[in-house]
Amino acid sequence: MKYVFVTGGVVSSLGKGLTAAALGALLEVRGLKVRIQKFDPYLNVDPGTMSPYQHGEVYVLEDGAETDLDLGHYERFTSGKLSKLNSLSSGQIYENVIQNERRGLYLGKTVQVIPHVTNEIKDRIYQGAKDVDVLITEIGGTTGDIEGLPFLEAMRQFALEVGPRDCLFMHVTLVPYLGAAGELKTKPTQQSVAKLREIGIQPHIVVCRCEHDMDNEMRDKISMFCNVPVKAVIECQDVASIYELPIALEKEGLDELVVDLFGMKRPMPDNNLWTDIVNRINNPRHEVTIGVVGKYIELQDAYKSVYESVTHAGIANYCRVNVRRIDAEDLEARNGLSLLKGLDGILVPGGFGDRGTEGKIAAARYARENNVPYYGLCLGLQIAVIEFCRNVLKLKGANSLEFDQEAIEPVITMMEDQKKIVDKGATMRLGSYECQLQPGTKARKAYGEEYVRERHRHRFEVNNAYVGAMQRAGMVVSGLNPRRNLVEIVEIKAHPWFVAVQFHPEFQSKPNEAHPLFAAFVKAAMKHHNAAKAPVAKKAPKAKKKKTAKKTTKKATKPVVKKAAEPKTDS
Ligand code: GLN
Repeated sequence: MKYVFVTGGVVSSLGKGLTAAALGALLEVRGLKVRIQKFDPYLNVDPGTMSPYQHGEVYVLEDGAETDLDLGHYERFTSGKLSKLNSLSSGQIYENVIQNERRGLYLGKTVQVIPHVTNEIKDRIYQGAKDVDVLITEIGGTTGDIEGLPFLEAMRQFALEVGPRDCLFMHVTLVPYLGAAGELKTKPTQQSVAKLREIGIQPHIVVCRCEHDMDNEMRDKISMFCNVPVKAVIECQDVASIYELPIALEKEGLDELVVDLFGMKRPMPDNNLWTDIVNRINNPRHEVTIGVVGKYIELQDAYKSVYESVTHAGIANYCRVNVRRIDAEDLEARNGLSLLKGLDGILVPGGFGDRGTEGKIAAARYARENNVPYYGLCLGLQIAVIEFCRNVLKLKGANSLEFDQEAIEPVITMMEDQKKIVDKGATMRLGSYECQLQPGTKARKAYGEEYVRERHRHRFEVNNAYVGAMQRAGMVVSGLNPRRNLVEIVEIKAHPWFVAVQFHPEFQSKPNEAHPLFAAFVKAAMKHHNAAKAPVAKKAPKAKKKKTAKKTTKKATKPVVKKAAEPKTDS
């Protein structure tokens, strides 16, 4: 059993999580069983109650744990499913410690950070390590933060307990470029490593995030001042797509170094799946533009898994997917709908509260009336149902009780078991539930199976009192929770592709295994794209039409460069 601890220095948002995930991916390719987990020093019990402005997306695990978005990277880059044991915050630790103290479990001792808090942390490392060869643990925050100290102290103690040969510390740091001086600077890295050494941790590997090439002199300097061999100074520049990161780090020798340091013999096989993924991203044969209509579109991380899943669907379809981020509130303005012109697909992701909902409803209506593929996720389903009830069933007062508690036609209602709940944390319908797919529907066709499991995070649901009327008017229920008869998927029969789901499929998509509904949505967008081009081509003689199509395909060879996909995020 081997342990890698990942710490970060100088600034946040360095992409520690992605670096950890990419290392995990490479070790998996080498045949090792890997698990990656995250420890966060903040006092919230979990990020479920945090605003997207504070924390970005809340990533939901199969067992319903609401976790940091880095766990999304871990699940996308490695194959194992994570559980609530793999996400720990100071809030959880203190909650446990205080409960234990109240129960008298410390037998009259004074309860202290060392050993009681550090023991809780070490326990979680041992628990996380069950059934794997390598456990990678990322510590959130930046070295030097007061709240991070108990975690670093626990890592130090842990290494002492299991022995230095089985533990490895990897420090991800910033090597900034000073324009005025025209050079990269190593001092911040030196100082943040010094900070680690002060508490007794000597990193084995220093990963240097930088925007320019590091020359040998720089590497020597970092090696000398940080007390690591030159080959353990790993350069890590921005990559166009995060899925290039494993290849970039492999070129720098990171995974080789790790297996060497652990004394393992695990050669890299010839067929590294990441090469194929990158090839597909860089050589698309098609191109579409989809609009994501949300209220946090200016934030890099609020819809992280949605953006990533769209990329995966592009990879599956050899298609470059451009994402136009549209602020739902802008659609509410006069002529706002012009923002939707030229889109090949419209996606409405999850959300809470009523801000921007009328804009989202307008987007769903536009998609329905103009035969533009529509894909609604969680709130995106509720929006589609409200729109359909208002404009097709002519129920003018149709709304969700979340947005209007007095709604005349509560087509979206609070789930029965939610009504008595007062606490906000971890009390939604969370985690994986079964969904039965109805024959002859687009959803069933996409999945190719009758039963699937998907992850949830919501308090409201479709009101079954309206389902009969909806179905008769053409919005059918194509997925149902068989136990509780809850609507899980709706779709419009007569529309080219209008599918909305009550769950979050974006939490189960991987770059090499796109989620079936995302893949089908992008496929429908490709169809729409080609159909939209057809009228222009019609005027031209037949032979020319083919040429135009070919040209466009050839043009689309630029790599997918999307801001949302850059490895710059770290909470
Ligand atoms: N706010 C809605 C609910 O609670 C949708 C939640 C979501 O989109 N995750 O049901």
